[in-house]
Amino acid sequence: RKRCIRISTGSKQLDAALNGGFQTMSVNEVYGEFRCGKTQLAHTLAVIAQLPKEMGGAEGKVAYIDTEGTFRPERIMEIAERFGVDPEQACENISYARAQNTEASLAIAHIHTAHPLTAIQMQMELLEGLAPNFATNEYRLLVIDSIMALYRTDYTGRGELSERQQALGLFLRRCAMMAEEFNLVVFMTNQVMSDPGASAMFAGVDGRKPAGGHILAHASTTRLLLRKGRGEERVAKIMDSPDCPEREATYIITTGGIND
Ligand code: ADP
Ligand code: MG
Repeated sequence: RKRCIRISTGSKQLDAALNGGFQTMSVNEVYGEFRCGKTQLAHTLAVIAQLPKEMGGAEGKVAYIDTEGTFRPERIMEIAERFGVDPEQACENISYARAQNTEASLAIAHIHTAHPLTAIQMQMELLEGLAPNFATNEYRLLVIDSIMALYRTDYTGRGELSERQQALGLFLRRCAMMAEEFNLVVFMTNQVMSDPGASAMFAGVDGRKPAGGHILAHASTTRLLLRKGRGEERVAKIMDSPDCPEREATYIITTGGIND
């Protein structure tokens, strides 16, 4: 029988707000404006997931689907140093979907020219390609940074939107199944309307709503809104959770990743 594990975020305050961190067998989403730390949190989790349980980790490997080209091994190494783990080893324990297979690189090259569904199908193929990795039972975290980037390419009609939302729904259901089946934390980042490049059609009306509409809202077990606070401070607000009240926590971004 699989046991649920929590992965620490690197911030004690944020962990406390989340009852200890992000849980395996669940789909988690952070959304917020540009530079509020979504990618930094993804990097931090990718290191902490590997740590012993006493350190807030899950002793697992990590799969990282990077749809925006913002993954930086150098950041992984810096964060690894904070936790006293071998930086090279920390990188080796991360399966980086975009760099790893030629098909993915090809897809990335096509994003701006191909029909949007091609990019969406490719995102699905990347996910399916990870299934054998997950089947080894060594993995505890799947990062998707970001979930909507490949869906936000220009499109023309409402018909296409519904088609795409359907594809998104399929992708998210697969994520949820994998989270359960393979005891993974699925961690997705998402944009809000104020993000440069975010398609207005996928965003909410008030600029604070995540892209992806109700399909994404239903798919995420836990949703956090990230925003800039005073000075270096960032604020995470729990918007939706099966076991936490709506509450806020502050964190900062450091060389060693997310911290208090
Ligand atoms: P998002 O993905 O939400 O757009 P990021 O996760 O990329 O945002 O966070 C960007 C922020 O992280 C920037 O404000 C940047 O200053 C900060 N940051 C990036 N690297 C470091 C570092 N090594 N030390 C401190 N802060 C950093
Ligand atoms: Mg980012």
